[in-house]
Amino acid sequence: MRGATQAATFLAGAAALHSAPALSWFFPATKRFLPTLMGVRPAGEVAITFDDGPDPVSTPLVLDLLARNEVKATFFMLGDMAKRHPDVARAVAEGGHQVGVHGLYHRNALFRSYPTIGYDLERGKSLVEESSGQAVHLMRPPYGVLSTAMLVHARRLDLRPLLWTSWGRDWRAAATRQSIVSDLVRHGIDGGTILLHDSDCTSAPGSTHAMLEALEELLALIQARGLRTMPAG
Ligand SMILES: [Zn+2]
Repeated sequence: MRGATQAATFLAGAAALHSAPALSWFFPATKRFLPTLMGVRPAGEVAITFDDGPDPVSTPLVLDLLARNEVKATFFMLGDMAKRHPDVARAVAEGGHQVGVHGLYHRNALFRSYPTIGYDLERGKSLVEESSGQAVHLMRPPYGVLSTAMLVHARRLDLRPLLWTSWGRDWRAAATRQSIVSDLVRHGIDGGTILLHDSDCTSAPGSTHAMLEALEELLALIQARGLRTMPAG
């Protein structure tokens, strides 16, 4: 992967200096130096991505909303969730969306051994592929923490790491429709990759309610601005 070595050096240092999830402080730098990794896109385009699913309650609601707006997105699934809810994983793929892997469990790579990180990614990938029926070539590490070990294993497994340029901080208990949309707009929608969560399995319980309201508003905003949407990979 182009830029993998720089990414490893930069992000390992960044992660060591700062605990996850809190990447916003180096957004300006990474957007400029690692645009592919961060999901920078041409002006006029935006990719919407969802992490932590598939969830039997909230993912189908996300799929309905996307289908009504004729939007295709990318879902970074946890292997553990995909194994428990294979019908939902399959519905995502059958809806024409792209499936990526977010690991087996939602663990921070910063505090884990090299072989454990490899097992987590490999097993996560195979469970997501088995459940969804789609080959997976895209990965996003939990908390956005890309250690050197994670990058080496991703390359071995033919997985391209992808982070994001804009997030709604929808995992917080205090998040509202308004706060999520205003966070997304502040970081920028045009020419970027948006991070949301289609499950509250690692977030504040019920946080997907505010996310769904915000998603509806975001899709209207995207349409009003005439932006093109597509899967991230
Ligand atoms: Zn996550």
